[in-house]
Amino acid sequence: RQEADFIVVANRLPVDLERLPDGTKRWKHSPGGLVSALAPFLRNQDGAWVGWPGVADADVEPFEEDGLLLHPVALSADEVRDYYEGFSNATLWPLYHDVVAPPVFERDWWQSYVRVNNRFADAVAKTAAPNATVWIQDYQLQLAPAMLRERRPDLRIGFFLHIPFPPTELFMQLPWRTEIVRGLLGADLVGFHRPGGAQNFLWLARRLAGLEPSRGTVGVRTRPGLVQVGDRTVRVGAFPISIDASGLDAISRKKETINRAAEIRRELGNPPKILLGVDRLDYTKGIDLRLRALQELLAEGRVDPGEVAMVQLATPSRERVEHYQRMRDDIERVVSRINGEFARVGRPVVHYLHQSVDRSELAAFYLAADVMVVTPLRDGMNLVCKEYVACRHDLGGSLLLSEFAGAAAELTSAFLVNPHDLEGVKNSLVEALSIDPAVGRRRMRALRRQVLTHDVDRWAKSFLDALRSEPTPQ
Ligand code: UDP
Repeated sequence: RQEADFIVVANRLPVDLERLPDGTKRWKHSPGGLVSALAPFLRNQDGAWVGWPGVADADVEPFEEDGLLLHPVALSADEVRDYYEGFSNATLWPLYHDVVAPPVFERDWWQSYVRVNNRFADAVAKTAAPNATVWIQDYQLQLAPAMLRERRPDLRIGFFLHIPFPPTELFMQLPWRTEIVRGLLGADLVGFHRPGGAQNFLWLARRLAGLEPSRGTVGVRTRPGLVQVGDRTVRVGAFPISIDASGLDAISRKKETINRAAEIRRELGNPPKILLGVDRLDYTKGIDLRLRALQELLAEGRVDPGEVAMVQLATPSRERVEHYQRMRDDIERVVSRINGEFARVGRPVVHYLHQSVDRSELAAFYLAADVMVVTPLRDGMNLVCKEYVACRHDLGGSLLLSEFAGAAAELTSAFLVNPHDLEGVKNSLVEALSIDPAVGRRRMRALRRQVLTHDVDRWAKSFLDALRSEPTPQ
């Protein structure tokens, strides 16, 4: 099979190519929430997935697996450095996350981003059956919608941004702002997590795409949720993503998970209270802030080091980007300061793991934790906090959540904090640690109602329904 009626396009394939020491290659599954949410749609409709296999210079032909056509897009080592680590992760990522780190604007990185987006568009153009539906994912591929439309005007094209879309005055810093807006306007439907992101994009579409009528965009105007680009209407909306809530709920109810959670508590020395942080090691996640809050509470005697243990799982991430290396050093320094000052032999206060754990182990950690601490400075959605809620079938535990995570709009029964306000974070932590169990259960019940009824299937379906409800383009 060479063609597909429904194609997902993402920076990464749902499988990673691994090169073994003996020179042979094998595919390793990396089934995330997105893969499991989209798998049913893909399998039912002769689906395909176009993406990078995760290693440089992997020139692999398309192949079929489990009824799904996988179409690898090859990247050279230079492109991994410039398009991926550079423009995607050192320009767009910080710019779109409220410039919590300074974005770097490098012309060579931009050239590489353009080249790679063109390559993705070529791959999709080759794979798409006539009038197929194409769903392009995320910030690495914002030019691909327009590039693809140029090649294949028959396609129905959707785009979803998984990270925040920034305030307009920050987006305006980007030297290639007009190209990006035009790239996105190639889609029939552009989706964001939050209505604010959609509003920002609509403003920019009018301001930037309308600026240069010589480039064929005369008559660009915006209405709430709509942009008219020539004779095409582009819809713009908010589609908050979620998790496989019932799947995780089921895992958390398994005997093995419950036993493992009890074992984790024992391994930590049965402290009365366990705090938990689970994040990719990223400067947007506010890991340092939560550690500092704990450090001050311990120093002030408001939290007794014999009464709490904090577990911080920090998944390795983007380790070749300089800013990430520095941040790792900073966080590890704070962890050792806290332990140096407040631990006893054999009883650290902070248990820090720079490792990734699998889903069932993670579920056990969620189940063992009295307070889940989620303090990003900015986060498109944050799935970890929803996963915590999905695992608390026992109605135990409290969630402390940053207002600047997309999830805060839905999880209003959490302890919502401004992560920049250290005193506020400390007060909420103390409150969450000492919550009356009946009140805690009530809050958790409200959180679960939201998370269990708004899962990732519902998200995918609502986006695809909106995409397909449009009249055929042209
Ligand atoms: N995760 C994992 N193992 C770990 C830590 C995290 O599988 O050791 C998963 C976690 O379950 C969640 C995802 O990584 O689904 C993180 O998603 P989130 O939206 O919270 O943050 P992102 O990393 O996408 O910025």
